Amino acid sequence: MATIIPIADARTAAGSAARGIAPDALVRAAADGPDFTGSPVADTRGRPLHDLRISVTDRCNFRCVYCMPKDVFDSDHRFLPHADLLTFEEIARVAKVFVGRGVSKIRLTGGEPLLRRNIERLVEMLAKLGDIDLTLTTNGALLAKKARSLADAGLKRVTVSLDSLDDATFRAMNDVDFPVAKVLEGIDAAAAAGLAPLKVNMVVKRGTNETSIVPMARHFRGSGHIVRFIEYMDVGASNGWRMDDVVPAAAIVRAIDAEFPLEPADPNYTGEVAARWRYRDGGGEIGVIASVTQAFCRDCTRARLSTDGKLYTCLFATDGHDLRALVRNGFTDAQIGNAIAGVWRARADRYSEVRTANTPRIPRVEMSYIGG
Ligand code: SAM
Repeated sequence: MATIIPIADARTAAGSAARGIAPDALVRAAADGPDFTGSPVADTRGRPLHDLRISVTDRCNFRCVYCMPKDVFDSDHRFLPHADLLTFEEIARVAKVFVGRGVSKIRLTGGEPLLRRNIERLVEMLAKLGDIDLTLTTNGALLAKKARSLADAGLKRVTVSLDSLDDATFRAMNDVDFPVAKVLEGIDAAAAAGLAPLKVNMVVKRGTNETSIVPMARHFRGSGHIVRFIEYMDVGASNGWRMDDVVPAAAIVRAIDAEFPLEPADPNYTGEVAARWRYRDGGGEIGVIASVTQAFCRDCTRARLSTDGKLYTCLFATDGHDLRALVRNGFTDAQIGNAIAGVWRARADRYSEVRTANTPRIPRVEMSYIGG
């Protein structure tokens, strides 16, 4: 077997080791590992590779207190230089390789994906990859302006984050004084452009916005939009997460059920992140994402591609695998596909199942960089 270290160092502009990413199974698999072409891609726990989340920028125009707090992401924070970002052509190429290995759903995210200039061009390129579920998660700030062009480019659906309908609460949570009304305009524009079913993500943080749960459910009942209530998670290393700040999904469901009776609904597919609940009176459905109190690692089929082209196999990972080094240094699609398969087959992540009050202190990458 060939030596690994020289290959990786010589083939990356800045050297992946210098970036803290040691040459690993990925490079081994690409360079001289066994050929996985044609074999099913499942990890050590039998989980297939189905979803790919692509972070197209690590920048955001919000400073949500639970994600990119201002005191960390301030004017001194060094975002990635442009040359480090995967180009649209590189993203589309890697995405195509992922699709060849079983991915059928792609979500563009970030950071705020609508900040990436000409994002519609990337959507158009990805839409040509075939029959994939192509969607995007946004804070909605630029959605009113972009919904139509995104739909025209081939985007199928959109998820909009909105943590409260109470203007003061929302402005405090996004921490850039952004009003609720503008996000609602974006949601309306997306619905008018046919980006449906539209989902609305609300992160619930105790003492911050739990009084917004029932008003949020009330507002979107009967609209056809699906609100998903998300337990506050210990992603990244900067949000000062404490278990006490988590409002358990069961409590969220209880609060809504007391006003609008609910019944459980079957998942749409294995591995669906949100547990579905239906209004008994036919007013539609909600979802709860209970990654803290009811971990769903067992069914997790999601890979993440960071803004600078690293493959992460868990939202709570500390290290990624440098796919960009392969893309920019002459590796073939087959080799890159083989590398992806090799990493996936070695995957054993189940962070949320083993989380304790202390594990959040383990250093790990930020959600804005890895893709939410
Ligand atoms: N900027 C886009 C947005 O706001 O939707 C996409 C990126 S954002 C990181 C993706 C999703 O992650 C959002 O719905 C956001 O609310 C959620 N999120 C961020 N930090 C979180 C945390 N600590 N716990 C739970 N959800 C979080």
